[in-house]
Amino acid sequence: MARRKIIAGNWKMNKTPSEAVALAVELKPLVANEDVDVVFCVPAIDIVLVAEAVKGSSIKVGAENMYFEESGAYTGEISPAMLVDAGVKYVILGHSERREYFGETNEDVNKKMLKAFEHNITPIMCCGETLEQREQGVTMDFIRQQVKVGFQNVTADQAKTAVIAYEPIWAIGTGKTATTAQAQEVCAGIRACIAEVYDEATADAIRIQYGGSVNAATAPELFAQPDIDGGLVGGASLKAEFGKIVNYK
Ligand code: PEP
Repeated sequence: MARRKIIAGNWKMNKTPSEAVALAVELKPLVANEDVDVVFCVPAIDIVLVAEAVKGSSIKVGAENMYFEESGAYTGEISPAMLVDAGVKYVILGHSERREYFGETNEDVNKKMLKAFEHNITPIMCCGETLEQREQGVTMDFIRQQVKVGFQNVTADQAKTAVIAYEPIWAIGTGKTATTAQAQEVCAGIRACIAEVYDEATADAIRIQYGGSVNAATAPELFAQPDIDGGLVGGASLKAEFGKIVNYK
């Protein structure tokens, strides 16, 4: 099956509302590519303005996190309905920074996954190992657990529409990209895990991104791998370079 590539920028905690509009306007013409799904995942406070700024293009806006309750006394949290009303189509869930600094567990990620599907928001579920885990040879065991718990009670039809981002923690923001072979090997392992949990058709449909210091030089080879369907890009998504990454061919 020919899967459509998806390249998402993760702006993290960068860009005030006015800076976010300026960046979205700058990137809008540079990321034009009808063959690729392009997503700007931006801070919650920037979502409405960025959604307005990218109108008239095929760029989609994503959130970087979301809570799993519908509404109520959860001070500081953002609900799925709020995101939908603001124009969000995608949400990053379980990013390693949220797991590390905010204590998110696989079970939390699973609750958020189920809520995202309920509201027709496409989750970009992150997984990935530490350097220590890689050196101990437990990379796939760890990631399989993240994927299996993250997808608990997600139906095959829902899973087919999901995006998984494989992001080795040691490659995020460090300038160290996993080798193409390392990235392809783990993405193939994740697809095999999905086939085991669901079936071949689901594994064939789900899109798996690589993330971790992707730049304009590394993107072409990474995205040409059979099991890598695009990228989740941090640092380089805040620059004109993101246009080159989207137009990697
Ligand atoms: C990320 O945080 O999702 C990421 C991949 O960051 P960077 O590209 O900066 O390594």
